[in-house]
Amino acid sequence: MPQPNFIDKLTAALTTAGREALDALTRTARARSLALYAVGGSVRDLLLERPTLDLDLTLEGDAPALARTAATGLTDVRCTIHPTFRTATLKGDAFRIDVATARAETYQRPGALPTIRPGSLRDDLFRRDFTANALALALTGDRAGDLIDPFHGAADLEAGLLRTLHEASFRDDATRILRGARYEARLGFRFEPQTLRWLRRDIRYLDTISGRRLRDELLRVLREPRPERILMRLHGLGALAALHPSLSFDERLASAFARLRELRDEPPATACLALLAWELTPPEAAALAARLSLTRREAEAVRAAPDAQALLPALSADVPPSRVVDLLSPLPPPAVWALAAAAEGPPADRALHYLRRWRYLKPALDGHALVALGAPPGPRLGEVLRRLKAAKLDGEVRTRRDEETLARSLLGLHASASSPRKARLQPGRRSGR
Ligand code: ATP
Repeated sequence: MPQPNFIDKLTAALTTAGREALDALTRTARARSLALYAVGGSVRDLLLERPTLDLDLTLEGDAPALARTAATGLTDVRCTIHPTFRTATLKGDAFRIDVATARAETYQRPGALPTIRPGSLRDDLFRRDFTANALALALTGDRAGDLIDPFHGAADLEAGLLRTLHEASFRDDATRILRGARYEARLGFRFEPQTLRWLRRDIRYLDTISGRRLRDELLRVLREPRPERILMRLHGLGALAALHPSLSFDERLASAFARLRELRDEPPATACLALLAWELTPPEAAALAARLSLTRREAEAVRAAPDAQALLPALSADVPPSRVVDLLSPLPPPAVWALAAAAEGPPADRALHYLRRWRYLKPALDGHALVALGAPPGPRLGEVLRRLKAAKLDGEVRTRRDEETLARSLLGLHASASSPRKARLQPGRRSGR
């Protein structure tokens, strides 16, 4: 049976500029008699007939030198070299091609970054997380167009199985547990039974992974189309609790994640992180943020989740919008998005109004306008502006003229200005805002 033409399929998925870049890389490698391969997720997705965004290449030779030469003949392509890892990236119009020097890896201790040395293609495939990612497509030489599959990844792809390359895989690098759960959901695969036994046995090695690496893998999970399925799986495997003992996941949180997507097309990672921390106590949330080495904004969102949760009883239907703004504005918006997704009824409704409208509402008058009305400059202006904003939020003033009337009254500038609203808005009547 003739082999399907994988190279044609691979290039067909690229933009014109991407195809030109791949062509230049292949020509350069051929001219130097170097073996160049497509590897990893791009070959996996090619076989699964799934779209793939980035192309990963491996060269048995000096990848940065190859990329540099290939890039000289290309316009509008940026070539970045990473000398430590002997890799290079070509980026251009809607494409990205990573070229790496084939390498072997050894782990000095669990969770450490591996020691790297140049190796063969086989070494390079053996260092990978799952057999499904350990396939290569030869782009040059006599075998150009051949699929190279020393670890039977194609059979596992066919069977929908995630199988590690060896028994110590999760111990070497426990981020593979998170990666595997992500692939399960994304590809509709299952862990192969022996791999699953090793995974369960080695869950504790998540302890050996640095916060930053855990964070990066967790964020990849959160960027998947339905992260709740992955989080539920990780919880079932005991992996969430291994990230931090306080972390768990249940159907209620899963619904909240789905709800968050209904509220926002692409929920920001910060809101997802806040939702993940929704049921934690303040010390637990702080400990989680520290364990995951979250960025400042991410940590703020996570630490604010318990504060947001504590506000639920205060967000009843009869609370005026100005009070809602006072309660919610100290929180970072991602924590309020988490609240809107996790709560139901009036609190969810109030949070959404806040996020979509109330937090942006400003009085028509500003400090200059107040001075033009005759107010003496000074700190009192700030107080009056706050009162105007509250009155606007609560529907007590609508037009600029309403605001002027209220401002005069608050500033004692217009003793005769009386209106039904004025009576309600006498200075001192709105304490507690
Ligand atoms: P994605 O679409 O999620 O990017 P991908 O398979 O391209 O999928 P990357 O994270 O870009 O994943 O990694 C590229 C390749 O590098 C993977 O296919 C895998 O073979 C390998 N890889 C990445 N991280 C690890 C790891 N921690 N352990 C072993 N191999 C890894």
